Amino acid sequence: MNTPTGEAAAGSGTRTAALRAMTTAHSAHNYHPLPVVIADGEGAWVRDVEGHRYLDMLAAYSAVNFGHRHPRLIAAAQRQLDRVTLVSRAFDHDQFGPFCAELATLAGMEMVLPMNTGAEAVETAIKTARKWGYQVKGVPADEAVIIAFEGNFHGRTTTIVSFSTDPLAREGFGPYTPGFRVVPYGDAAALAGAMDEKVVGVLVEPIQGEAGVIVPPPGYLGQVRELCDRYGALMMADEIQSGLGRTGTTFACEHENVVPDIYILGKALGGGIVPVSAVVSSAAILGVFQPGQHGSTFGGNPLGCAVGREVIALLATGEMQERSAKLGTHLHSRLSALPRQMVAQVRGRGLWAGVEFTAIGGREACERLARHGVLAKDTHGTTIRLAPPLIISEADLDWALDRIAEALS
Ligand SMILES: *Cc1c(COP(=O)(O)O)cnc(C)c1O
Repeated sequence: MNTPTGEAAAGSGTRTAALRAMTTAHSAHNYHPLPVVIADGEGAWVRDVEGHRYLDMLAAYSAVNFGHRHPRLIAAAQRQLDRVTLVSRAFDHDQFGPFCAELATLAGMEMVLPMNTGAEAVETAIKTARKWGYQVKGVPADEAVIIAFEGNFHGRTTTIVSFSTDPLAREGFGPYTPGFRVVPYGDAAALAGAMDEKVVGVLVEPIQGEAGVIVPPPGYLGQVRELCDRYGALMMADEIQSGLGRTGTTFACEHENVVPDIYILGKALGGGIVPVSAVVSSAAILGVFQPGQHGSTFGGNPLGCAVGREVIALLATGEMQERSAKLGTHLHSRLSALPRQMVAQVRGRGLWAGVEFTAIGGREACERLARHGVLAKDTHGTTIRLAPPLIISEADLDWALDRIAEALS
């Protein structure tokens, strides 16, 4: 699957039509997928049911950071499938302690609380900050405040959409969970104005992914850190999409030399095979939980831990992060060279880019790209997001960039 077959005819073919009709008739319409039905994938490439190949420039929103079916991740999963897959947290198992220890080491932290999806990890961080606020900081019962930012994306639970500023994500799902304050992103003065002694945590994406790969001004994360220190609040970095190599470092916070109190991780942690998420922090902070106060049947399961350990091993050498930084520089320089009448702005870091178009909508851009054999996803309005697997070759990346220039000219 290494050589592109040229222009793909996205959406054509009788198998595609039959499968898409089934999806439309029998799945809830909470997504609007591109007209491509994927049958298999390897590395940075996927193939549809008609045999057309596409370069995957989305990588499942960074959940497939190491490419489709990375041999080491598949081998780790297969080894574990032959041993034991689920015991629940009622019992310990031989992958659990090592997974937590290795993830804590990768993050330079002490303790890990594993969950499954990103939203669950965010919920876990919210519960951690509240418990910590009452138990350690001494906030009066039920008065804890958590600050989030305009344009945030932290998941889809009722509590998390309560502080979303995206009407599509939020409207019609009330009543909303109280206890959140929302301030403009990238504006330290606005955050300072919202801080007080009841604030137990600040929930921040180091780069806002769903909002369109929005990079805050230089120094901003350091200012968030300082304000958290000054008011005794926990800095909670949601690195579910930005972390684990995506931006050219293990964590996006590293670009600003900032260490948060809590890392929230997910997506790539499960190697694109199983959902694995985690809250990673100090013993003083995660130590607030006692048995029975939080949990998950599948959180920390043997299969997830075995795959997660291999993900951590892939990141431990720094090679993936280096690839992302080096190829990312190439990606950004080529995107920035696209004609001004076509592209209004390019944002991002490492192998992660938000490309804002002048003349066409993001959806139309992605449909055109699919017809040229490149899969990407629009975010809001006129922006598309590019986040290829970190294992992509420079030649494939150049091929995708040539197709982008061709499709959008
Ligand atoms: C995807 C994402 C989430 C939610 O993760 P799910 O696994 O979809 O629940 C939370 N925060 C950020 C920054 C994300 O990108």
